[in-house]
Amino acid sequence: MNILLFGAPGSGKGTQSALLLKKFPMQHVSTGDLFREAVRSSSPLGVEAKQYLDAGQLVPDSITIGLINEVFQKRSGKDFILDGFPRTVPQAEALEKLLAQNKMTLGKVFFLEVPDQILLGRLTGRRVCQSCGAVYHVDSSPSRVAGVCDKCGGSVVQRQDDKEEVIAQRLVAYSEKTAPLKAFYKAKGTFVAVDGTGTAEEVLKRIESSL
Ligand code: AMP
Repeated sequence: MNILLFGAPGSGKGTQSALLLKKFPMQHVSTGDLFREAVRSSSPLGVEAKQYLDAGQLVPDSITIGLINEVFQKRSGKDFILDGFPRTVPQAEALEKLLAQNKMTLGKVFFLEVPDQILLGRLTGRRVCQSCGAVYHVDSSPSRVAGVCDKCGGSVVQRQDDKEEVIAQRLVAYSEKTAPLKAFYKAKGTFVAVDGTGTAEEVLKRIESSL
């Protein structure tokens, strides 16, 4: 079953995707990861996307939908976990078309609900390994040695867009552009609201109980 995880920045989409992937052989599609990878490699896509990522703004729909078209063309055949796409109603409409063209459906849309105060704490304290992408939190799950990844020894840093001034902009983009997707997916009947508070394992159990 293809599934979609959506919710505000910091709601746990990436964390839950990683936990689900340990249990189920699925293809993880994170547009945030794809954009960051493109920025790192300075590809034409990365050069174009960087300004939006750095400012905490959404990359324009035309670019993002183009990227997802490529993902569909090169897909592995495994079911998708969509993480961070779609983030606007036009993106959701484009996804519907792509799914129909490929005779696919979206089985469940999980909306991770987390109060703003908790989101802020998660985002400002988040640190990521530049080499392997492992995610830490300065209070709740720090790396054993500050700044050094437990898993690969890479350097653990704060994402540019997890700085406080950029977070504010990301939350605005979320409430203006992404929150309307709730109504879009509720109307389709595949929408499942999940309490996204508590430990990652607790949230995973809530998701699994609906799979
Ligand atoms: P994320 O890692 O999902 O929080 O995404 C990081 C950044 O990538 C976002 O703040 C946007 O700038 C960009 N981005 C990721 N996914 C999308 C999307 N579906 N539409 C537009 N921009 C996106």
